[in-house]
Parts: sequence; C-alpha cells; structure tokens
Amino acid sequence: MTVTRFAPSPTGYLHVGNLRTALFNHLIARKAGGTFILRLDDTDPERSKPEYADAIREDLEWLGLTWDREERQSARLERYGEAAEKLRAAGRFYECFETPEELELKRRKQLNMGRPPVYDRSALKLDEGERARLREERGAGHWRFLLKQERIEWEDGILGPLSIDAASVSDPVLIRGDGQVLYTLASVVDDIEMGVTDVVRGSDHVTNTATQIQIIGALGGTPPAFAHHSLLTGPQGEGLSKRLGALSLRDLRARGVEPMALLSLLARLGSSQPVVLFRSIDELAEGFDMAQFGSAPTKFDENDLFPLTRQYVQGLDFEQVRGKILGLGVPEAQAERFWRVARENITVIEDLKGWWRLCSEGAAPEIAEEDVEFVQAALALLPEPPFDENTWADWTARVKAETGRKGKALFMPLRKALTGQAQGPDMADLMPLLQRVPGRDA
Ligand code: GLU
Repeated sequence: MTVTRFAPSPTGYLHVGNLRTALFNHLIARKAGGTFILRLDDTDPERSKPEYADAIREDLEWLGLTWDREERQSARLERYGEAAEKLRAAGRFYECFETPEELELKRRKQLNMGRPPVYDRSALKLDEGERARLREERGAGHWRFLLKQERIEWEDGILGPLSIDAASVSDPVLIRGDGQVLYTLASVVDDIEMGVTDVVRGSDHVTNTATQIQIIGALGGTPPAFAHHSLLTGPQGEGLSKRLGALSLRDLRARGVEPMALLSLLARLGSSQPVVLFRSIDELAEGFDMAQFGSAPTKFDENDLFPLTRQYVQGLDFEQVRGKILGLGVPEAQAERFWRVARENITVIEDLKGWWRLCSEGAAPEIAEEDVEFVQAALALLPEPPFDENTWADWTARVKAETGRKGKALFMPLRKALTGQAQGPDMADLMPLLQRVPGRDA
C-alpha cells in the first residue's frame, strides 16, 4: 500500500515551497488510494512551537489537503534511542568531541588544500581512555553515522538515476552532544516504522537521501522510492528565500487566492503539462504524473494565481456563494441577481463587498467635465429607486430624446456616473440592485 508523508518542522508558517512538497505527497497517496501522513518534525524543542503546528494544520485544512494520520517526532524519542543503540551495536555509530570551532578550522584547511570538506573521522582513532578523558573535559560527544564508502545509487522519481560517492559526504551527525536527536535519524526511523513507500521532497535533500539510504540499510529497513523536486525561484530566476514570508499560505489566503487556484498551479508548474484550473483535488490527483517534472529550478510568479482564482470564482454556482452574499447584507430576493451581475466583475470573493457597497451606498461618481451638465440633466430624469429591469432602457430612451445624445456618448457618462467605472456589469441588470443614486440622493 502506498504511504506518503509531509514532514514540516513547526518552526514557521508554510509557504508555497513547502506546499509543493505537501501537494505532491498528498496527490501520490490519493491517486493510489493510499495513506497520507502529516508528520511534525519537532525534535528541536527551542524552535518548534505549538502555534506553528496549529497554523500548519489550519493551512492544510484550508487547502483541503486532508491527512489520514498525524505523527509527532517529539513523541517518539524512545524509538530513536533504540535505533541509535542498534547502530552502535552494528559498529556504525561513533562519538566525536570536536567543537564547532575545531570542525570549522578543519574545513577551512581542507578547502585551502583544494580538498572537499569532508569530516576526517579523527574520532574513530580515539581509544576508550581518550574518549573518557574528552567526555570528562567536554561533556558528552555528538554521534556520527559511519558511512560505508561506496557509491550510493537510486532511481529518483524526478531526477532519474542518481549516484553519489559516500566518500564525498561527511559522516552525518545523528545525535547532538546535548542529546538532541537530529532530523536525519528521526526521519529514517519514522519512514521505516510507518511503512512510508514514497518520499518526495526538495532537491536540497539529495545528499540527505544518500546518507539516509545507508542508515535505513543499517537499521534493516528498505528505502522508500525517493523523488526530489526542483526548488522554486521568483519570476526572474531569483532565489525565493527572502520573499517566502510574503508567500506564506496565510498571506496568500488573506489576499483572496483560492485553494484550487494555488493547488492547480503548483501541481503543474515545472512539469511539461499545461497549467489548467482543476475544481477538485480528486481531478488533480487523477491527472498528476511525477514523470512529467523536470530538474530545472521552477519559476513561480504569484501573479499567476489571480487569473486562476478569477476563473475559479467566476465558475462558482449561486448555491456555493449564497451564504457569503447573504452575509454581506444582500436581501434574499436580490441575492441571485446580485451574483449574476457581480460575478463577471470580480477576481477574489472579497470583491463582492465592493459591488454590494456600490449597490447599497452608491459609488463615487466619475464625471468628466464636459459631461457634468448632461449627467445632471439625465439624473433629474431618473425616477426614485427601487428600479426594475426596464429602468435602464426607459431612462436612457428618455435621456436620448431630451438631450439628443446617443451611443457611447449617451451610455458611457451614465454608466460612470452610477458605478464610477467605465466597465462593469450589464446596466439593465444592475439597475434593480441600486438602492441609491450617488450625486443625487446624497
Ligand atoms: N522536516 C524536513 C524538512 O522540512 C523534512 C524533509 C523530509 O521530507 O524528509 O525539510
């Protein structure tokens, strides 16, 4: 059975980059009828916050990315301890005592000599007595996994066949001196014990994957199928890291972006399939194909979210927006007409507010200087609200007869006087909704 997981650290808000990872894993599980796990990687007690965990759940719920199970790494520390014991017993785990400064010095020396900055394994040469002395002097050491120096190979679901020379990678630290279990170990133990079959994550994890494949082997597990998606960049190819705050899911939500617009864009961006609007996650899952994604960085332009949002919103049925419309104070009898009139003129649902304000309070009229007299004369001919479907035709016919204006010169100043805009709804349809005539009923 297919089991995938989304494994954010609750140390901040989710952004579009995280969402891509969540979405791919979700779609793989849904397409296969499998299980999708939300796993909170919260082994760092200082940086992990319950508020962020709540925010992550809230964002995923908003998007409809439902999960079948939730796991928290902080509740599984014993399991990681057991795995560490197993690695120790297998001779694949060793204690090191270098300080960060010493490690940095070694790194710089290696780089100066033109060598890759790979940990030199000095700690392996310590005998029991030296270790005891160092422990006494410096406190408990940190623990590294002893990599087998061979090529680590896997067939990546996006990047194709990959091969990494373990000799070019430092033995990863899995437990810190203060006892904190690091992500690499916790993740591997979870993936094995939770039966995770497919892992999709960002290409910044490729080296982790190589080491994790060996750790999984050392723990007697079978590696899942790995796939690494490219990282998102801005529209010009610039790094997104500084802008990710503004591209948090809650920020996009506050700007009126619709979940299906966001999901539709991210499920296709960077693939050879065109971006189209999907109206449900099921449809999205059906057409999802990881083989279509490329390895090149993927350009993301938040502006692309708005045409998709508009398309989504304009395609909603009255029943889907009824509650929202009544909530604005639109009388029940006018609600359906209001939706018909406003829908073509909005991008985000919140835009309905502006249209209802216009109907109920009147817009700030826009009247060109040369039209002032004309508009005044015309408004004098307009009866008192309430208006009906015939008001616009009757009124403009009278204005035409009285002023001699016709065509655009007749209609445009009147539209602008009543709506404050040159474009917008069909006026005959709008008139019955207008409760006040600005510039006249002031
Ligand atoms: N917590 C890790 C991250 O957010 C998870 C990576 C993984 O999918 O294994 O980068």
